[in-house]
Amino acid sequence: MADKIKMTTPLVEMNGDEMTRVIWEMIKEILLEPYIELNTEYYDLSLENRNQTNDQITIDSARAAIKHGVAVKCATITPNAQRMQEYTLKEMWKSPNGTIRSIMDGTVFRAPIIVDGIEPLVRNWKKPIIIARHAYGDVYKNIEHSIEEGGRAEILVTEANGQTHKHLIHEFRNTAGIVQGQHNTDASIESFAMSCFSYALEIKYDLWFATKDTISKKYDHRFKDIFDDVFERHYKKLFENAGLEYFYTLIDDAVARVMRSEGGFIWACKNYDGDVMSDMVAAAFGSLGMMTSVLVSRGGAYEYEAAHGTVTRHYYKHLKGEETSTNSIATLYAWTGALYKRAELDRNHDLTIFALMLEKAAKATIESGIMTGDLYALSTLQKKEKVNTREFLIAVNEKLKELL
Ligand code: NAP
Ligand code: MG
Repeated sequence: MADKIKMTTPLVEMNGDEMTRVIWEMIKEILLEPYIELNTEYYDLSLENRNQTNDQITIDSARAAIKHGVAVKCATITPNAQRMQEYTLKEMWKSPNGTIRSIMDGTVFRAPIIVDGIEPLVRNWKKPIIIARHAYGDVYKNIEHSIEEGGRAEILVTEANGQTHKHLIHEFRNTAGIVQGQHNTDASIESFAMSCFSYALEIKYDLWFATKDTISKKYDHRFKDIFDDVFERHYKKLFENAGLEYFYTLIDDAVARVMRSEGGFIWACKNYDGDVMSDMVAAAFGSLGMMTSVLVSRGGAYEYEAAHGTVTRHYYKHLKGEETSTNSIATLYAWTGALYKRAELDRNHDLTIFALMLEKAAKATIESGIMTGDLYALSTLQKKEKVNTREFLIAVNEKLKELL
C-alpha cells in the first residue's frame, strides 16, 4: 500500500458516548487509520470524563475548535435524572452541544444524505433541504406564568435612562389563563444571519428565510429587517456573483413551497420553527441515521457531527453481547466533512480526494444493497442485505479500496 496521507494541522476530535462511541472506534480502525496518519487533538467528552473534569473538558474542546478551525464530534449523552443515577454524577451537566454552540457562537446546519433506494417520502424532493436553526431565545428562554381568574397581565419595559413603558397583555376577567414573555437580541439574530449567508455561499445553495412578520409586526419583523440589512450590506454582490438567491417569505407560505420544491436550498428558521421543521424534514428524508449536522461559528470555525444521539437502545444490546445493526453513515460523514474541511484549509490535495472517495464508497455500498437495519426497512432496492454494524464498515472499506 502507498504511504499514509499526512496531516499538517490537527483536527479537534471530540469523542462521546454509548453506541456512537463504539462506532467511532470502528470508523477510525477500519476506514481512517489504515489510510491517514491521523493528526487529532483529542478531547474525551464521554459523560464520565465530563463529570470527572466538572465539564471543563467540553469548554476546552470548544475553545480548541475555534483555535484550529475544524472539529469532529461524536454524539454525547445530555444527562437527565435517570443518567444522574446511572453514572452517579456530581451535577446534571448541561448539554455539551449547547455549551459548544454558545462558546463557538454558531449556527447548526442539518443536512440529509441522499442515496438511491431510500426515497424521500415527499416524492418531488430530489436534493437536500438543509435546515439552519437559530438556536437562541424565543420560547426556549421564556418566562411563563399561570394567572388566576380576575388577574391582569402586563409587560413592563425599563429603558437604560429609567423611562418605562407598560403594555396590557390581557385582563383575565371571567377565566384563569396563561401568559408568556419572550426575547431575542439583535446581536444574536445578526450572527445567525451572517452564518446563514456565509454558509449558503460556501456550499452554493440558495437561502430561504421565513417568519410571521405580518402578525408579529415588531418581534418577527425585526428578524426580517436584520436579515435584509445583513444581506444588503455584506452579501448582495457576493450572491449575485455566485448566481444565488436570498428569498424571504411568510412561514406558512414557506412550508407550502418547501413541500412543492425539489430541494437544494438552505432553509433558515427561527428557533421553534427549526426545532419542528428539522424533525419533519429528517423524517421525510428517511432515517435519523442519514442526517448530518455542522455547527458553523460566526468566526468561521466548523464542528461536524451526526444529527442523531448515542443510540442507547442499541448500546445496551451491544453491552449484552448481542449483535447490533447501527447506521454509521452520519458519524462517518461527520469525519469526512471535517477531513474535507481540514484538507481545504491546509490545501492538502490527497486528503481532499480521500474524504470524497470515502463518502462515495459509503454511498455506493448502500446503493449496492448492503445496509444496516434501519435502511433495510426503508430501501426500495430489489436485492438488499442487512448487515451488522461492523460488517457494514468492512463493506465500505472494500468499496473504498476499489476507488483509491
Ligand atoms: P437517538 O440516539 O438518536 O436514538 C433514537 C432512536 O432512533 C434509536 O433508538 C434508533 O431507533 C434510531 N436511531 C438513531 N440513530 C440511529 C442510527 N445511527 N442507526 C440506527 N438507528 C438509529 O435518540 P435518543 O434515544 O432520544 O437519545 C439517546 C441519547 O443521545 C440521550 O442520552 C440524548 O441525550 C443523546 N443525544 C445526543 C445528541 C447529540 O450529541 N447530538 C443528539 C440527540 C440525543 P430504534 O431503537 O428503533 O432502532
Ligand atoms: Mg426537535
